[in-house]
Amino acid sequence: MKNEMHIQFSALSQNESFARVTVAAFIAQLDPTMDELTEIKTVVSEAVTNAIIHGYENNPNGMVYISVTINDNIVEMTIRDEGVGIKNIEEARQPLFTTKPELERSGMGFTIMENFMDEVDIESQPGAGTTIRLKKHLAKSTALCN
Ligand code: ATP
Ligand code: MG
Repeated sequence: MKNEMHIQFSALSQNESFARVTVAAFIAQLDPTMDELTEIKTVVSEAVTNAIIHGYENNPNGMVYISVTINDNIVEMTIRDEGVGIKNIEEARQPLFTTKPELERSGMGFTIMENFMDEVDIESQPGAGTTIRLKKHLAKSTALCN
C-alpha cells in the first residue's frame, strides 16, 4: 500500500534534527534494519544541510520541503529548496568537491547520498532552486510480514 507524507520548515540548522527524526518516524512502519534507518537519517541530514547552507546561504526566510513516499519496501524521498541552485551538477557530485572549503565542508554530501541510496537524482536551476530525489529498496518486504 502506498503511503506518503509532506513537511516544510524554515531553513534553520536546528531543524535538521527535526527533519531527520520525522522522516525516521515515518519510515519506522516499514520495520527497517538499524543500518537502513541510520543511512536514511544520514542522507536526510546531508540534503537538508545542503539546502540550508548552500541553497539559502543560511537565510532563515527560505523554506525546505520534504516529501516521502513508501510503497511496499521502497522508500522515495524528495528534498527541495528554492535557493541559489547548482551551476554544474556533474562537478557538484564529485567526491571532495565543495564551494565552501572556508566553512570546512568536505565535499562528501552527494557521495554519501550515492553510497547509501539506490538512486540519487539532482535537478537544479541557478536562481530557482534544487530538488534531490532519492530512492532506496529496503531489504524486508512489508508484503511478507503482513
Ligand atoms: P559536505 O557535505 O561534505 O559538508 P559540501 O556540502 O560542500 O560538503 P556536497 O554536499 O557533496 O558537499 O555538495 C557539493 C556542492 O554542491 C556544494 O559545495 C555546493 O556548491 C553544491 N550544492 C549542494 N547542494 C546544494 C543546494 N541545495 N543548493 C545549492 N548548491 C548546492
Ligand atoms: Mg553537503
